[in-house]
Amino acid sequence: MRNNNNHASQWQPATVTIHGGKRRDEHGALVAPLYQTATFSFETTAQGSARFAGEQEGYIYSRLGNPTVNELEVRVAQLEGYAAGAASATGMGAVSAAMLAFLEQGDHVVVADAIYGCSFALFSHLFAKFGISVDFVDMTDANNVAAAMRSNTKMVFIETPANPHLKVIDIAAVAAIAERYQARVIVDNTFMTPLLQRPREQGAHLVIHSATKYLNGHGDVVAGLICGSAEDIELIKMTTLKDMGATMSPHDAWLILRGLKTLDVRMERHCRNAMQVADYLVGHKKVRRVYFPGLPDHPAQQLMGTQMHGYGAVIAFELQGDQATAQRMLDRLQLITIAVSLGDAETLIQHPASMTHSPYTPEARAKAGISDTLVRISVGLEAVDDILRDLEQAIGFAYSASDPAKPAEQQGEPLAYG
Ligand SMILES: *Cc1c(COP(=O)(O)O)cnc(C)c1O
Repeated sequence: MRNNNNHASQWQPATVTIHGGKRRDEHGALVAPLYQTATFSFETTAQGSARFAGEQEGYIYSRLGNPTVNELEVRVAQLEGYAAGAASATGMGAVSAAMLAFLEQGDHVVVADAIYGCSFALFSHLFAKFGISVDFVDMTDANNVAAAMRSNTKMVFIETPANPHLKVIDIAAVAAIAERYQARVIVDNTFMTPLLQRPREQGAHLVIHSATKYLNGHGDVVAGLICGSAEDIELIKMTTLKDMGATMSPHDAWLILRGLKTLDVRMERHCRNAMQVADYLVGHKKVRRVYFPGLPDHPAQQLMGTQMHGYGAVIAFELQGDQATAQRMLDRLQLITIAVSLGDAETLIQHPASMTHSPYTPEARAKAGISDTLVRISVGLEAVDDILRDLEQAIGFAYSASDPAKPAEQQGEPLAYG
């Protein structure tokens, strides 16, 4: 149960990703053992009742707590600078558990207008069923937050940078307003990771992650994490996690612990590759517009060095032409994979109008600025020259194809990557 975290406060984040929350193992195992067990035995009835009463430290049942999962919770909490962490089955499990633990009928929530699609669905449809009202506001101007706050506003939900246009929000400015109403500020930090942004330093009370993305980084787990004060995390664990039940499996925690060890080197390469891809796209004459926090005219520049310590590796761009042009380009890619999600070693690309944002009506898409030629790319860890070469041939092909209806396979030999 004891976590060897005495020195974590003095460590650099790169060290915490490897050593934070490490448990002392009786056999001296270097790597966190995988406690793949549903339950834990008690030596006596007295021990069992003492654990249930909270009078004795120790594990009871894996939905309530598990040593492998606990090591991950402590490590990510240390990275984010909070006292405690709670692991969940998915990123959406983290969003719903963290929000619903503090909300009840009649409460009001202020939410950034550009957020992950399922968070939007949760807040706009499910919350209404339980009498929780929500206002979506453009938080790039903090005045909009001030105007939306009410006496019953309990939480303010921020995602920055946000899908798909990489809009950034000044967390400190929003948190200062929320404080006047004693509302909790919760930040979805998935796109940045604690290595590039630690919202606690800007006044956030809770941080959530889709650990599916960069924290795990290897595309083989769907998982979430919540970080906050010891009291807040205890409440979440004992209510919305324990009783609604979207807790993390030990095996997923074990994989994420493995993935986390390389977070620092991965983020460095992700960011470097993405900057080069963004520069390439900006210089391409068939690219109408590029959305990336690293570009000189992006508002993110004002938050660099204070709130943000890197630009991340998600880029959106608009091609010239129409939806068919964009789809022709994507279908022609050979190295870059057509898939939603982000933060993996593989560079992933998707077409929001026909994929993540296809449930929107055309009018709603237009209002949200999601054009038919908008493309989102999560830049991976491959050699950047290979990523650039694949984009070059695919964009070139999209405009050279004389007959758009003709399938890509018939338009020439695919390039070989070796
Ligand atoms: C993927 C994602 C989520 C949801 O996480 P899951 O692990 O898929 O449930 C939430 N927020 C952001 C920003 C995401 O990218």
